[in-house]
Amino acid sequence: MKNIMFIAPPAAGKGTQAEMITAKYKLPHISTGDILREIAKEDSEIGNYVAETMASGKLVKDEITYQLIEDRLSREDCKNGFIIDGFPRNLDQAVEYDKILAKLGYEVGNVFLLNISTKTLEKRITGRRVCEDCNAIYNINDTAKAPQVESVCDKCGGKLYQRKDDNLESFQTRFAMYQEKTEPIIEHYRKQNVLHEIDSNHEFDEVFRQIDEIISKN
Ligand code: AMP
Repeated sequence: MKNIMFIAPPAAGKGTQAEMITAKYKLPHISTGDILREIAKEDSEIGNYVAETMASGKLVKDEITYQLIEDRLSREDCKNGFIIDGFPRNLDQAVEYDKILAKLGYEVGNVFLLNISTKTLEKRITGRRVCEDCNAIYNINDTAKAPQVESVCDKCGGKLYQRKDDNLESFQTRFAMYQEKTEPIIEHYRKQNVLHEIDSNHEFDEVFRQIDEIISKN
């Protein structure tokens, strides 16, 4: 199966779509945001730097992401395909990612660009809740994605929390970062002929249907 990558503004639903693909196709879901959130818990210089940068909505230094991506993709479970979510986030990372893929003998696979209006994004960002144990994602502003019991994970019973950067102020910075740094990579993948544009303004199930139609074809 082809590898899968997402390009999407914050809270466009890339994490949720990655979860849905994982559930159906059993591919490992590699989220740089999740890996960095674990590092941010460490009481160390790097842990503090990552925590502060993430809370501000800015991107952490590229060099930090390269090693963690290469290490993660080198693991056995990625041999039959993987989903990468949150990386690359700028053109330098996209160029480095091409090198990492070549080194490991992988192809970029299908790249999904999630197009979505800012109005929908703001609604999603304030409603998003995440399980502190298994990272499952919910949305209290979307009936299909709300947890059955308030603040409790349907999957593992863990406690749900709101990410520190899921507020409108941090969202503005993250969205500006997306437009300035991440959007330029769209052209990089369009040129490689691997880009699929998805209308992500719909409910999560409909977005998944569009993505799955493409995945199941190749
Ligand atoms: P996400 O969970 O993908 O929304 O990422 C949350 C935050 O983690 C971002 O706002 C950045 O601060 C940081 N982050 C995630 N992936 C990257 C990356 N590839 N490069 C730099 N910073 C990242």
